[in-house]
Amino acid sequence: MRSTPEYDVIVIGAGMSGISAASELDKKGLRVLVLEARDRIGGRINTIYPFGPDNVAVELGAQWIHGTEANLNPLLHLIDNVSLPSDWEHTKMFNKHGALVDPQVASKCLEAVEQLGERCVEAYKKGERGSFAAFMARDVEWSGKCIFGTCPPGKVLVCANCVEKVFVGREFENVEGAELDELSIGEKAGEGNFEGDNAIPVKGYRWLLEKLIREMHSTEFRFGCEVQSIDYSGEFVTIFTSRGIHHAKTIVSTIPLGVMKSPHAPKFTPPLPPAYQHSIKTLGFGLLDKTILTFEKSFWPPSTHGFQSHLDLSPHGGPSDAFILLFNLKAGIQYNGDPNIIVAYYAANVADWLETLPDEKVVPIFLNHLTHLFGAPTPLLSHTVTRWRNEKYSCGSYSYLSKGSEFSDQAVWTRPVGGGKVVFAGEHTIETHFATVHGALLSGRRAAEQVLKKVEGVDEDFEKKEKGFGEGSEEEEEEEEEDLVKGNWKGFVVMGVVVLIALVVYMTF
Ligand SMILES: Cc1cc2nc3c(=O)[nH]c(=O)nc-3n(C[C@H](O)[C@H](O)[C@H](O)COP(=O)(O)OP(=O)(O)OC[C@H]3O[C@@H](n4cnc5c(N)ncnc54)[C@H](O)[C@@H]3O)c2cc1C
Repeated sequence: MRSTPEYDVIVIGAGMSGISAASELDKKGLRVLVLEARDRIGGRINTIYPFGPDNVAVELGAQWIHGTEANLNPLLHLIDNVSLPSDWEHTKMFNKHGALVDPQVASKCLEAVEQLGERCVEAYKKGERGSFAAFMARDVEWSGKCIFGTCPPGKVLVCANCVEKVFVGREFENVEGAELDELSIGEKAGEGNFEGDNAIPVKGYRWLLEKLIREMHSTEFRFGCEVQSIDYSGEFVTIFTSRGIHHAKTIVSTIPLGVMKSPHAPKFTPPLPPAYQHSIKTLGFGLLDKTILTFEKSFWPPSTHGFQSHLDLSPHGGPSDAFILLFNLKAGIQYNGDPNIIVAYYAANVADWLETLPDEKVVPIFLNHLTHLFGAPTPLLSHTVTRWRNEKYSCGSYSYLSKGSEFSDQAVWTRPVGGGKVVFAGEHTIETHFATVHGALLSGRRAAEQVLKKVEGVDEDFEKKEKGFGEGSEEEEEEEEEDLVKGNWKGFVVMGVVVLIALVVYMTF
């Protein structure tokens, strides 16, 4: 092992968290290398410009900036062209027959769903645990009353309005990417999230990443470079990749939770401490996918931002009651003219099932669906179908609090291991803003601070603090015990010598 490693820091992953960390470290003049398995930047940000660089930005991954109130969201300070808020209040809702739901019923359904979410959070804070589905079943307000007064006496949730309410309750699946019987009632209980509407970076999220990279001075990037194992047992960290070996004083790992759960997760030597392994096992990693369709002309209500709809996939062998959100990109980003794009969003088991089909089957399913809702379509110009679960370097879309996990399972990733040599970042490592782009950004900044403390030796008590968390690996704990034994032994020798000298001095005088 060389005496000085090539790099101060190696960042694994060129997604939002990795680029955010690299950007901060580059500003401090550190020698930084970013290793990225894909041949592009962005990870779960994947902006494409199919109609030219100056035309509309189409997002295959993250779309919105969540929480724009009071300019608190750090993304708002980095992005100079943000759309007006997306208007979810006036979303149109279609029932399972494809007919429009009365807007008053629709807004009552949305209200009921919001209140259900609030009751879940309250219950979680009082110590209740379990899944959303189980909570819904025992919540009297939700499953014991017909809020519309239209169910037959003695029966609940059977009238057409209640059927709609129950269906809209499935919206949680779309937002969190997880099935309701897997999702914890605490999912929304994370403190500190930014309030307010959602808006869209008009030039695309990729624009922000490119800007951060352009501003760097010396950071190197290596693409198509899959990290296969990480050895942090020595003084420095050694990283074995598909394209060679690298050494650094510290590393920032932004490997997504989905990849850490997969059989191809990079191997850590020594293995990560038990609390980290527990987190990998218990935190959920959900799925949200999109089918993006571009038409010659819009044939849907042009000023409506979104449409909630049911889709029966059972004739194709899929789920019978799929929840599909249709997003009208033109209204969302507020541009004039072409192109006319509808984005179909679907999640959890529906997305998992659709990922098994080729484009030739998926696209006609959505064309028929749109025809059913809006009438005959204009010619389809292009399509893109995402398959985030099947992307080797994501293995899904974003993390969620599963019914068996706690916020401490996210918090564990805020603690470096190996005496500060291995630091973590990524959307799953930040309890307050998980599953978001701004969460990834903030986690990268946090990781950079931790690296600086280690590399610049600012925080000399680093190791002590880390051990104070009680999360040291078994090897580290053994080392610690050995040190203690050695320390005691040395202590006894020193004490013995002192006593001997004192005795000699005493006897001499
Ligand atoms: C469909 C979809 C819609 C979303 N919508 C929104 C939204 O509207 N708003 C929002 O805020 N968030 C949204 N998100 C979530 C958001 O995209 C993520 O939270 C965020 O981009 C994650 O950033 P990250 O840096 O943590 O991870 P990533 O972006 O996944 O970056 C990790 C990087 O590590 C690389 N990597 C993985 N394994 C290896 C390896 N072995 N060796 C080297 N490199 C490796 C990956 O290729 C990747 O580039 C969405 C996500 C998806 C998929």
